[in-house]
Amino acid sequence: MSAHSLAVLGSTGSIGVQTLDVVRRNPGAFRVAALAAGSNIERLTEQIDEFKPELVVVSDESSRERLRQLVPKTVEIACGKAGLEAAACTSEVQTVVNAVVGFAGLFPAVSAVSAGKNLALANKECLVAGGSILVERARRSGARIAPVDSEHSSVFQCLKRNGCKEQVRRVILTASGGPFRNCSPEQLESVTPEDAVKHPTWSMGAKISVDSATLMNKGLEVIEAAVLFDLPGDKIEVLVHPESIVHGFVEFQEGTLLAALFSTDMRVPITYALKYLLGDSDDTPQLESGVSFLDLAARGTLSFARPDVERFPALSLCYQALATGGQMPLVLNAANEIAVAAFLQGTLKFTDIPRVCAATMEAAPAQKTEDLEGIIAADAHARSVASKLCEDFRTRKPLPR
Ligand code: NAD
Ligand code: MG
Repeated sequence: MSAHSLAVLGSTGSIGVQTLDVVRRNPGAFRVAALAAGSNIERLTEQIDEFKPELVVVSDESSRERLRQLVPKTVEIACGKAGLEAAACTSEVQTVVNAVVGFAGLFPAVSAVSAGKNLALANKECLVAGGSILVERARRSGARIAPVDSEHSSVFQCLKRNGCKEQVRRVILTASGGPFRNCSPEQLESVTPEDAVKHPTWSMGAKISVDSATLMNKGLEVIEAAVLFDLPGDKIEVLVHPESIVHGFVEFQEGTLLAALFSTDMRVPITYALKYLLGDSDDTPQLESGVSFLDLAARGTLSFARPDVERFPALSLCYQALATGGQMPLVLNAANEIAVAAFLQGTLKFTDIPRVCAATMEAAPAQKTEDLEGIIAADAHARSVASKLCEDFRTRKPLPR
């Protein structure tokens, strides 16, 4: 079998780096035809040197100029949204790994599946903001989508191996509970960005770390699961599981509860997604993930509890957005991206993140968005509402005690 050709978008981030590690561990299985990243030029230069892609994409013109000085003239360098879309559609690419963070990941995802490329999808925001378009375009072109998110990979694996969707009673996504699982409401009021990005069980990018701390990540994952597996919100549950060993369950009507367990290392679901997308023929290579296997006896006890939505209201907001439907998940996603950025800049309190999201949802009309232009307009509108609300929260006088 000749090497399978990949485009890795978001290559310098946590998932991108781990994807390239899987590629490195499986010599001959893959070839990296395109890499895309934001502005981490140093890391990108090292990746270009090692993986020798023909096309590289950076986020802006100044990054392009810096990179031009550092890499061979034979490497084509594109930039911005158009560059990301070009990387996703490069003719020889067979699978696009989308590990860009945030709404920006939607456009290359749609381009990839529209061009019939397989998609290994880590970027959950694109499913929240434009899931129905993405799924519909994939259905039309025959492109396959494999989730990289650990919970969704687990559910995907349980569903693939057992029965059809009608027999599914519910799916359960686990949550570590984040770094503030045991904090009081008062302690949550004074959380800093440094505290929030220190996740207890996973090492991830800043935005998803904050999302994990608010439980917004889990809520976005509920919406992600609803889109990917075509399930209503009331069939998707969340359980807090601080050990992060079981990542997802599927319960079938007859009473069987299947689970997928693996170490807290994203190379497992990345490798599974790539393996699935490679297909299953006699000459398909076995893939190594490089991950240590689980020693359950050494782990001892695994525990599960219901999430506390009083302290972590972001989870309820996501269920609410899913139930409202239309563009509400998109509005929530946009508001969250703005609020998390403000929190990371030190201009918004941790506990105001869900408040900004709730207020943006109240201010936004819940209409249905049918096309990409509508999505872009609704996203921009929600962002401007959320930015204004962040400013209101920043300048608000503290309530008298
Ligand atoms: P990260 O911040 O570490 O990396 C993001 C990558 O995207 C970087 O390479 C950055 O340069 C690139 N990027 C950002 N904006 C871009 C743009 N406009 N154009 C091109 N590149 C751009 O984030 P991460 O933790 O790797 O997460 C990536 C995605 O995967 C997120 O959607 C996240 O929710 C999802 N995810 C991550 C994990 C994890 O363990 N890190 C687990 C599950 C899902
Ligand atoms: Mg996850």
